[in-house]
Amino acid sequence: MIAKAEIEQLSLEFESKTPQEIILWAIKNFWPEIAMSSSFQTQSMPLLHMVTSLKRGIPVFFIDTGYHFWETLEFREKIASEWKINVIDLYRDSRWDVFARQHTRTLPVEDPNLCCYLHKVQPMQKALKDIKAWISGIRRDQTFVRAHAKILELQEDGLLKVNPLLNWTQADVKKYMEENNLPKHPLYEKGYRSVGCAPCTVAIGITDDERAGRWQGRGKTECGLHTDMFKKKDVSEIKQKIKLEIK
Ligand code: SF4
Repeated sequence: MIAKAEIEQLSLEFESKTPQEIILWAIKNFWPEIAMSSSFQTQSMPLLHMVTSLKRGIPVFFIDTGYHFWETLEFREKIASEWKINVIDLYRDSRWDVFARQHTRTLPVEDPNLCCYLHKVQPMQKALKDIKAWISGIRRDQTFVRAHAKILELQEDGLLKVNPLLNWTQADVKKYMEENNLPKHPLYEKGYRSVGCAPCTVAIGITDDERAGRWQGRGKTECGLHTDMFKKKDVSEIKQKIKLEIK
């Protein structure tokens, strides 16, 4: 296990490394206890392409919330099949089924934090339980929270989060997509530059921020995978916290 001080030092050094160099370091040090996550939207394609080219068979977690656009599910199937990647779908814990069914149509609007917790955060926490390093595609230019992220982030439970694209911009994504002739999510050309769940994503204008169409008008910019919510494991505490925050 790498010491926290060493991780912090490496994280600083990685600020000047390429994403591929960072990914290779992570694979060398953590394989086979390493995985990546992908939402299979256009901006996810470069990391998916890099990681799965550098390490065949690496698990790729896709969170199937049950609220995705059909186009996202089709795209996920197409890419997984054509690129022959090891996609693992993650689902809500069945203990929430009765509650979730009773609130299917209202939950994303009335309590999106709880909805994201049940459908995204908790399934990912469970999937990463036996994993030591998690490669994620967040970028500093996406949100205020992400602007303060580090390339290597060691959680208290020992999980190392690896963010190889942290210093990339939209222009870097576009360049890599063009250079490698990568496919775009089918809704991209219709104005969906960042695609999440259908009830929480709208098309945006060409000059809008990339993530302006996510949870529009709901004062929410993050699903919780990349915030303090992810570090919390106790459901009752989460529920209480979420309820207090939305009052
Ligand atoms: S993005 Fe919306 S629908 Fe998807 S889990 Fe979060 S609140 Fe629910």
